[in-house]
Amino acid sequence: MQLYRGGIEDIINIYNIVKEFLKADVYGYKRYGNSLVFDFIESSSELPIDVHVVQRPGFYRVSRGFGFIHSSHSPKNLLYPFKQELFRVDQELNIKTLENSLKPVILFGIKPCDVAAINVFDKLFGNNFNPYYLNRRRSVVGIVVEECLNPGETCFCSTMGTGPDARNGFDLAFAKVDRDLVIFKAGSSLGEKIVAKANLQKASDDDVKRYEILLEEAKRKTNLGIGVEDIQTSLEKSITDVELWRKVSEKCVGCANCNMVCPTCFCSEIVDDVVGDEAVRIMQLIGCLSYTYGLVAGGHFRKELYTRYRHFILHKFVFYPKQIDLFGCVGCGRCTVWCPVGIDIRETVKTVASRYRG
Ligand code: SF4
Ligand code: SF4
Repeated sequence: MQLYRGGIEDIINIYNIVKEFLKADVYGYKRYGNSLVFDFIESSSELPIDVHVVQRPGFYRVSRGFGFIHSSHSPKNLLYPFKQELFRVDQELNIKTLENSLKPVILFGIKPCDVAAINVFDKLFGNNFNPYYLNRRRSVVGIVVEECLNPGETCFCSTMGTGPDARNGFDLAFAKVDRDLVIFKAGSSLGEKIVAKANLQKASDDDVKRYEILLEEAKRKTNLGIGVEDIQTSLEKSITDVELWRKVSEKCVGCANCNMVCPTCFCSEIVDDVVGDEAVRIMQLIGCLSYTYGLVAGGHFRKELYTRYRHFILHKFVFYPKQIDLFGCVGCGRCTVWCPVGIDIRETVKTVASRYRG
């Protein structure tokens, strides 16, 4: 694949080009107070250029710098919001279905694992299974990815095959080697048009070498040292090991933060409300770690916390592949970072694999 070179100013230039060329709203990571959110980026001054995120299990800080960018929010917040109004009914019983599509949207600076999470949703919600998702998804007219040459401490995308480089499902990708060297690559004909409009020069052999050295290091850092198939088969064998699952989940408080921040967790419940003189039906996310998730008429099907944590992990690595032929975990590390007690999904799968592998 042909690589191109530019500097930080070219990222800003490309933001302006795609916005103008595609006549679209740009969504991506942006600074919000002392944190980062995934939201509408009104102007290039909001791009998180001078931002660096430090994250560890149960720890997240945004500081000034030039490096890794991530947030608890992801494109899920746009494509599959926490709360979606489905329809309203007025007093004459007229039903108003809400328009759930968006103006044309460009996802800008999203991570390779974010693209993988969108692929998971596309498979889950394809064939019109969820028209609300599909309406929003069809609004996306361009995807610009930022590769992770400086990945977060909790990322394991290399093991999951989802990063740290952009692999598919993107139009243009960029990677910050340093402030004066940003590598670009086109992933589609749209990406090639953007490269031409931005007048980017071909990268030199030396540029490519510098990029590849950092990329190899990033792959090494994001590799757990276990094959994902080994993780999958170990987890399958561990299902009845109650003692093990109690142990790995013993600190869990059942807050379901992990579900809320996970870019592939989609479980939802339907609730009805009254707004003014109209009845409103709402779909909202509910996490499988929360107590109420398993509370049904006649009892509770996962009363003990370890069964809920076990389900979360098994769903990602064992059940999703059976359902959609893709892993439900993209290795983004969000569940680890935003867990208030710092439960680390990498440690969980390593613990299970060390007992049940081979
Ligand atoms: S399970 Fe955790 S690491 Fe995997 S995709 Fe969800 S939040 Fe990311
Ligand atoms: S975020 Fe941590 S404490 Fe909260 S439910 Fe998930 S694993 Fe348990």
